[in-house]
Amino acid sequence: MRNKSEQGEQSRRKMRRLKIKEILTTGQPGDKILVKGWVRTKRESKNVNFIALNDGSVIHNLQVVADTSVYDAKLLHDINSGAALSVTGVLAESQGSGQRLEMIAEDIMILGKADPDRYPIQPKKHSLEFLRENAHLRFRTNTFGAVFRIRHAMAFAIHKYFNEKGFYYLHTPIITASDAEGAGQMFRVTTLHAQNPPLTEDGKPDFTRDFFGKPTNLTVSGQLEGELGAMALGEIYTFGPTFRAENSNTTRHLAEFWMIEPEMAFYDLKDNMDLAEEFLKYLIDYALINCSDDLQFLAERLKQEEKNKPMNQRSMDLLEKLSFVSQSDFVRITYTEAIEILKNSKPYKKNAFQFPVDWGIDLQSEHERYLVEKHFQRPVILTDYPKEIKAFYMKQNDDGKTVRAMDVLFPQIGEIIGGSQREEELEKLEKRMKEMNIPIEEMWWYMDTRRFGSAVHSGFGLGFERLILFVTGMGNIRDVIAFPRTPKYAEF
Ligand code: ATP
Ligand code: MN
Repeated sequence: MRNKSEQGEQSRRKMRRLKIKEILTTGQPGDKILVKGWVRTKRESKNVNFIALNDGSVIHNLQVVADTSVYDAKLLHDINSGAALSVTGVLAESQGSGQRLEMIAEDIMILGKADPDRYPIQPKKHSLEFLRENAHLRFRTNTFGAVFRIRHAMAFAIHKYFNEKGFYYLHTPIITASDAEGAGQMFRVTTLHAQNPPLTEDGKPDFTRDFFGKPTNLTVSGQLEGELGAMALGEIYTFGPTFRAENSNTTRHLAEFWMIEPEMAFYDLKDNMDLAEEFLKYLIDYALINCSDDLQFLAERLKQEEKNKPMNQRSMDLLEKLSFVSQSDFVRITYTEAIEILKNSKPYKKNAFQFPVDWGIDLQSEHERYLVEKHFQRPVILTDYPKEIKAFYMKQNDDGKTVRAMDVLFPQIGEIIGGSQREEELEKLEKRMKEMNIPIEEMWWYMDTRRFGSAVHSGFGLGFERLILFVTGMGNIRDVIAFPRTPKYAEF
């Protein structure tokens, strides 16, 4: 037995640690390197142990080869799935298939053991449900490593896109006193005592004694403040967390999610649609170019997952689907046209839709998906919705019935973007707000943009997690955010 730990310590201090991504792309046989990472698997054979090491930089592992005659049996015994290692050694051409290089270990140090009887992430396939319950460790699986590297890349690409187009990143508040958009779906923010709040004379909680001197909530959208920025800076975008206390336990809704909201002065609805389409295609192309390893892994995963489904229910290959969407023109039709199409559809005539179809209804995701997946087989932008089902700030059309709204509908997702041209005429805006019981006085600052230098402007909101669902092909929104918040669930 060699005792190399002192020597190992010295060379470790001298050596720069390389990330596995760097090693696998630029490493050469004979390079002496230092890596640190977590053990995915260990395979024992008579003379050597093969350790698959992953450091999160890339989906691929580095195969570390440890000669059993060189290392202490106790040390090798403690190298289990999940353990953290620091290894120095020399790169060699790999004998096995799958990778170009492997590492012949010269010195192995265990940084942190992982008790195999207690570590939940075993080298076998776990269900997504099980991994959700172990969300603190699920990053250590290939699937979640891929999802969160892609999520990062998309966040970066969003900033890159807007920066290159001259949009400014505006940080709108997370705590807000306006509930104009919330419609009862907001989370209250208060420092008042829950059981014994100070009371007013008529026995109600006295919010003048609350932290902000009035009731406040977590924001559902940064749009209203975003408009204020756009009416001076020209083009802005927000990218931050938003909160909705809606009790929708679906695979596409979270109580806390991230939203990207560009807002642009002098853009009409057409400009708005053009931007939304260009933006989504840019992001998809960015993923295809920069995340190909992770996407390939997820595509393969999806294929395995769907093996048991009948042919006609299998979805398109993930990479094909992404290229297809990035290359096709999005269909643009009005809500009214969409209702016509739905009423003439097979599922409508066969009573196969769960929800009714009539002019005036809010489209359900089954309707949206029919339009996108069956009828047009490409993304669809629906415009000019009935004003009754849309927000007060949307530009009113001359027909008195519809507003200049636009929803972008995607395969598998349904609505990925919701937006509109904004009502820039003060009188029309005020009239609509009165009709909808929106407190105009409290919104004095919003009304001021229509009083001083008002102009045509537009914007939209892209749900970040819905984008990640689409790009990764994952089926549940809880699997594309690190720590999901949903009704009755706020673990971690
Ligand atoms: P949906 O009808 O799907 O509930 P919405 O009409 O409430 O969406 P908007 O208020 O227009 O959505 O929000 C803009 C975007 O934010 C949506 O297009 C969607 O991508 C995303 N989004 C909305 N609600 C949620 C949620 N609860 N969880 C995750 N993303 C959401
Ligand atoms: Mn909603």
